[in-house]
Amino acid sequence: MVEVNKPMRAEKLSAVKGMNDVLAPESAAWEWLEAKVRGLMARYAYRNIRTPIVEPTALFVRGLGEVTDIVEKEMYSFEDRLNGEALTLRPECTAGVVRAVVEHAMLYDGGKRLYYMGPMFRHERPQRGRYRQFHQIGAEVLGFAGAEVDAELILLADALWRELGLTGIRLELNSLGQPSERLAHRAALIAYLQCHAAALDADAQRRLHSNPLRILDSKNPAMTEIIDGAPRLLDYLGDASLAHFNALRAILDANEVAYSINPRLVRGMDYYNLTVFEFVTDRLGSQGTICGGGRYDYLIEQIGGKPAPAVGWALGVERVLELVREEGGAPVLLVPDMYAVIQDASAMPFAMKTIQMLRSAGLSVLMHAGSAEGMGSMKNQFKKADASGARFALVFGLDEVAQEAVTVKPMREGGGAQATHTLLNLLTWAQTLQSNA
Ligand code: ATP
Ligand code: MG
Repeated sequence: MVEVNKPMRAEKLSAVKGMNDVLAPESAAWEWLEAKVRGLMARYAYRNIRTPIVEPTALFVRGLGEVTDIVEKEMYSFEDRLNGEALTLRPECTAGVVRAVVEHAMLYDGGKRLYYMGPMFRHERPQRGRYRQFHQIGAEVLGFAGAEVDAELILLADALWRELGLTGIRLELNSLGQPSERLAHRAALIAYLQCHAAALDADAQRRLHSNPLRILDSKNPAMTEIIDGAPRLLDYLGDASLAHFNALRAILDANEVAYSINPRLVRGMDYYNLTVFEFVTDRLGSQGTICGGGRYDYLIEQIGGKPAPAVGWALGVERVLELVREEGGAPVLLVPDMYAVIQDASAMPFAMKTIQMLRSAGLSVLMHAGSAEGMGSMKNQFKKADASGARFALVFGLDEVAQEAVTVKPMREGGGAQATHTLLNLLTWAQTLQSNA
């Protein structure tokens, strides 16, 4: 006879290339990092903002600049199938934050300090430290023009590295000046690059007139010599730009934050002016930039808002966590306090009432779950209790349950003697356990 109703096992599906699942125990390191960030942001009085993952494509084209790596080749863009609207999975979050700030007139009562965490999407070649869905944590300060907020943001990132126990992170700093200063530098730069036209790679050839500054950001080793000899933007800065840069440096110096000035540092987006910076490490191979940011005083009006200054940074969560692993990993333990061994399904109502009480009191309890056939043998359940790493097994045998009691069996050294408790005693015992923790 042919069975007609049995479903066929379907073909396996995999995650999209360059997009990763984060599984335990690794996910616990993510939670640890996120908790550290939340604590730190609260101490600096930065407030959380959550913007959509999908934004109008125009936001990024206008915000990031048409001749940028991201807009030219890295965006996941698509048409809304109902109304044809051009949409894009956010490749970064600054543009979205600025859109939200403008849309909700958030600066009407003064500047704002904001932070976000979440996934970003870029169609890049996946490799170590470079993914197609990756995660950023970012901080943005909008509405303040002074170098002190640039400094505050850098001090905040620096404090985060210390809080995470990271060492060997270098800060590179530069100033891109103002648009008029860049224009003068641009003319000199184009003239210089034209003199070396034969040595330019295809990317540089293409950008020579559209975005020559970005040529300085080239990662092609063959271009290093030419770039090193190029006119430096820093030499074209006017007094006000230099004063801003020096004010930032004075605050960093007073706080003993070391940095080096990198005149070639230009950053990937067009929206930056004055301060730009990156935190880099030599320990992650060629994907050594863990955090980048700078001032973007013209982005708000570019996105249709009333002109207002702003500055921010974003860090790459995957890269930061890889560094955390290099330093020995996040101090996270995924071990429950107790494993509940339950002899028979008929004990479940009492067992779960007891377990809920313990969980309310702050203890972590992993409950044995049975199969369609029942709870399984006690021997098997104790094996699982042992494998869970729990310090105690809570035994809900039929004898115990009949007396509304539970036996606590220590599973590790130093857990004391085995004892049977009534509910009231159990709670008292659990509380002493916690105060000793
Ligand atoms: P890169 O030069 O490495 O491509 P970027 O200049 O494009 O970096 P930003 O747009 O400034 O990077 O993003 C800030 C941070 O986000 C980077 O310093 C990096 O840590 C992280 N990041 C950027 N792109 C990726 C990616 N594809 N995968 C993982 N992390 C990334
Ligand atoms: Mg990039």
